[in-house]
Amino acid sequence: MLNIVLFGPPGAGKGTQATLLKEKLNLIHLSTGELLRNHMAQHTELGDLAKVYIDKGELVPDELVIGMIKSDMKCCGNKKGIIFDGFPRTVAQAAALDELMNDLGMPVSGMIALEVPHDELIDRLLQRGATSGRTDDQRNDVIENRISIYHSLTSPVMEYYKKQNKYYPVIGIGDIDEINERLLAVINKL
Ligand code: AMP
Repeated sequence: MLNIVLFGPPGAGKGTQATLLKEKLNLIHLSTGELLRNHMAQHTELGDLAKVYIDKGELVPDELVIGMIKSDMKCCGNKKGIIFDGFPRTVAQAAALDELMNDLGMPVSGMIALEVPHDELIDRLLQRGATSGRTDDQRNDVIENRISIYHSLTSPVMEYYKKQNKYYPVIGIGDIDEINERLLAVINKL
């Protein structure tokens, strides 16, 4: 089984790369951002709760996100594993994911972190906001808040995986296909 955590700040290209990898490697793509947006669109109780945090660029509380993963994660049919996109975003989420995956007998194979400079992230997010309709990509203050929360609450997740020797940084700038090749080179060694 290949269970990959695709990691990086907002705008690093996690969604784009996860979509390519899922096709090439026959994986399930699990994006907590997408799941939460689906809940918001359907006005579930979780969706209405999550909207308050997402609109401000804050993290949705751990217990809600972990509960959602436990109830929405479906694996694996003919799929070879899971690529997690945007999860875990805190050390508590990383520990919960380990517990869940170890219980299922399909531990996390590795965490790949896309590295992109701050100014490039801002440019990409504003561009995405202009075309995707995602309101959290349209306001500078919300974008800056998301990046600052990434540094304070999410980046410690890298240490968590480093301690397990499962941390693999990859340069996330350049052509989309070129970045994908870099990711595949790492995945082939997992
Ligand atoms: P994303 O599509 O990954 O950029 O996520 C959009 C927004 O959903 C984030 O800014 C958070 O508010 C929320 N979100 C997504 N994944 C998580 C997570 N793992 N933990 C907490 N909040 C999350």
